[in-house]
Amino acid sequence: MAIFGREPTLDEALSVLRRRLDEKGPLPKSLVDLGQRLALRESPRPGGDPSLPEMVAAMPDAAAVIDGAGRFIAANRPLEMLLGAKVLGRGLLEATRSHELADAAWRALAGWPASREMTLPGPNKVVGALLAPLSQARALLVLRDLTEQKRRELVRRDFIANASHELRTPVSAISGAVETLLSGLPLAEEARPFVEMIARHAERLGNLSSDLLDLSRLESGEFRPEMEPLDATLAMSVALELVRAKAAEKKLELRVEGPPGLRVLADARALEQIFVNLLDNAIKYTPALGRITMVAEARGGKVVLSVTDTGPGIEPRHQQRLFERFYRADPGRSRAAGGTGLGLAIVKHLAQLQGGEVFVESSPAGSRFWLRFTQG
Ligand code: ADP
Repeated sequence: MAIFGREPTLDEALSVLRRRLDEKGPLPKSLVDLGQRLALRESPRPGGDPSLPEMVAAMPDAAAVIDGAGRFIAANRPLEMLLGAKVLGRGLLEATRSHELADAAWRALAGWPASREMTLPGPNKVVGALLAPLSQARALLVLRDLTEQKRRELVRRDFIANASHELRTPVSAISGAVETLLSGLPLAEEARPFVEMIARHAERLGNLSSDLLDLSRLESGEFRPEMEPLDATLAMSVALELVRAKAAEKKLELRVEGPPGLRVLADARALEQIFVNLLDNAIKYTPALGRITMVAEARGGKVVLSVTDTGPGIEPRHQQRLFERFYRADPGRSRAAGGTGLGLAIVKHLAQLQGGEVFVESSPAGSRFWLRFTQG
């Protein structure tokens, strides 16, 4: 199924490209400008549409047109620079040595647009590839070089992982020594508040380094979830047991509700970590004598799992940003409660790695964090 049954007009080709690019994020301004310039040029102009090679040459991103045999029939300079070779007349596979790109191109030639991130073995580059079907069994290819961006991300992740790993040894030595001091050794009365302060901060530092390590592992793709059908209510009850002692210190009422036999497709450890993070927050931010309720329910073929508290709620202006690293709605309260600002970022990553999503709803009467997962 080709999108166009005839030669595409400039607007049509650009709108296909725009849709493909939009799926990967906003269209770069340079492309929007180009679209507008080309659209102006197209309006009733003697001589008709510019040719495909002319359009491709005018594009600022690396772009090319592939024919039905998978050969380059038009390519611009940025594309040839990215691939490090002249490509006109050559096959896509031969020029890039990427079966993944060739596969995406065949799909586009058959009428299915594709947008993927991949490594091209030929030029050894990481690229974002967008392929859009054109008329007469041709396809438009746009490549974005992501190599440098990926390298920088890797350096940042490695640095964070190494730094947090290195921090663990001194932090646990401090925690151990402080614990010994507090558990029975003779200690001057005036010294006690200071030693307790060291204990609190050592704990915070420990939490921070382990959260950072978790996050960098999640971002690096090192963690691969093992998905299996799990009893939703049972999984919630198990997580609740892990935080029961902490909740008891504030006399919080804990409840689990859900139909027996409801199954959720998830990784058991990852789901437990999500629940523990959400419960930790609910306990941290809910005043004494409040209530925390976990609910599992089936909704339209999916499973909705929620943690609701009777805490102070979160103002609407913060709600969208809570899942960003180090974003805190109330920094003072978070730090005082020993928060790292990373718990919800970890929850979001873990949910996405399991094909799920996480949402928040909140009012001054309390907050509800809910997950939507596939039914198991
Ligand atoms: P933190 O370690 O600071 O709790 P999180 O990433 O877990 O970090 O949460 C981010 C912010 O979201 C918190 O600092 C807090 O402002 C807000 N928040 C999270 N859960 C709740 C909740 N149950 N009630 C009120 N505020 C919450």
